[in-house]
Amino acid sequence: MPRDDHFAKEKTAPKRRGLMLILSSPSGAGKTTLTRMLLQTPELDLTLSLSVTTRPRRSSEVDGIHYRFIGKKQFEALRDGGDLLEWAEVHGNFYGTPREPVEQILRQGRDMLFDIDYQGTRQVKEKCAGDCVTIFILPPSMKELRARLERRAEDKPEVIEKRLSEARNEILRWTDYDYVLINEDLQTTVADLRAILAAEHCRTARTREQIGDFVETLLHEP
Ligand code: 5GP
Repeated sequence: MPRDDHFAKEKTAPKRRGLMLILSSPSGAGKTTLTRMLLQTPELDLTLSLSVTTRPRRSSEVDGIHYRFIGKKQFEALRDGGDLLEWAEVHGNFYGTPREPVEQILRQGRDMLFDIDYQGTRQVKEKCAGDCVTIFILPPSMKELRARLERRAEDKPEVIEKRLSEARNEILRWTDYDYVLINEDLQTTVADLRAILAAEHCRTARTREQIGDFVETLLHEP
């Protein structure tokens, strides 16, 4: 069902609908750190979409915080039951976005942050075009990308090599996105992300109802 039809039924919808801020990048471009920094900024009031994945949990990860780690059968049941807004196979594992939490947050007029790959981004854009803002994060160099993957030291060397070779393919997708940022310096990138979010909140299409009421009041002033 097209997303707009889906949400049009909501009688209690607030005036500003929440937006979907989608971040994509190859592994090691710093997206996880950026995501954490955004989530730790209370005034942004962002909620992270918690993905399900069949990838084995890394030692630093907590089930229910970083991902919901599930088996392949359980993943297939969610996918085939229509419970996922999007899903993709990335680096040989399955990842997906549960649909229900997204709908809940957007209905409350709050924004949701997504850390998903280009395949998932394409699906969400098809379903929810007017609600998403997509941003691609590039590493400053391939050398830095490798260094970040190795510093993380949680994946086996062969996994790191696989991710590096796939990174080249992922990087080519940058033109599909609304915005592209080179993550040379975390503070600068976070400032850019905040600026994008602030600008997107002012889009006419997103504030039409709210500003329409305001303008009506404004024009009644003597
Ligand atoms: P990682 O295994 O390093 O946590 O994530 C690998 C890749 O999967 C990252 O590019 C990440 O953005 C992507 N990913 C994580 N969750 C999802 C999801 O729910 N859907 C899609 N399509 N990609 C995801």
